[in-house]
Amino acid sequence: MRLPKVRELIEAIKALIKGPYTSKFPKEAHVAHPNFRGQPKFNSDKCLGCLACEEVCPVNAIGHEDIVDDKNNPRRVMIHYTDTCIFCGQCEAACISDHQGIKLSNDWELSFFDRKAALETIEKELVLCEACSQPIACRDHLNWISAKIGELTYASPTLFLARLKSLGIIDENIISGVKDQGRSDRVKILCARCRRATTLTTKE
Ligand code: SF4
Ligand code: SF4
Repeated sequence: MRLPKVRELIEAIKALIKGPYTSKFPKEAHVAHPNFRGQPKFNSDKCLGCLACEEVCPVNAIGHEDIVDDKNNPRRVMIHYTDTCIFCGQCEAACISDHQGIKLSNDWELSFFDRKAALETIEKELVLCEACSQPIACRDHLNWISAKIGELTYASPTLFLARLKSLGIIDENIISGVKDQGRSDRVKILCARCRRATTLTTKE
């Protein structure tokens, strides 16, 4: 008979003292190691809707849709496709919101019958150009830029108007009531294209 090696004996004694290495899954839920790379999860309070994570994801597991909801509110829907994700962590590493907008969890039990369950979504308030209605950025992202650049915010009407609206200091209707395409349009929340058009126009 072949005698057990010393290493195997040590392992056997350890198993007797500490119990088995494996858990009785699925009877008992398995708790993954804290450093396990599992399902990335958005944090809607921290996410700015900036799309940096979508840009760096190597397998296009993050996407977005810009929509106007039933109550006429523009929203950006951030989408994570669990069935495509390879759990590389690039999204968390690139997140401009102190790596808190999306974070890898240790959630590993990801099987599902319905493919729709593979989607995780969050919604962010979107700011549209007041001239052409194209998306500019999420409101939280504009406020984040304002906080970063401080008083330089006042060099950009889009930034300072978005900031003042977030603070509830100005009335939406006062700004949106000005319809002409003249120089008064400069004091509006505009996308880069409309900003250029209104700056170059000479119409009063
Ligand atoms: S963990 Fe990697 S693959 Fe998954 S969403 Fe993030 S960047 Fe994309
Ligand atoms: S704040 Fe972070 S999680 Fe949100 S869109 Fe930007 S990079 Fe992605």
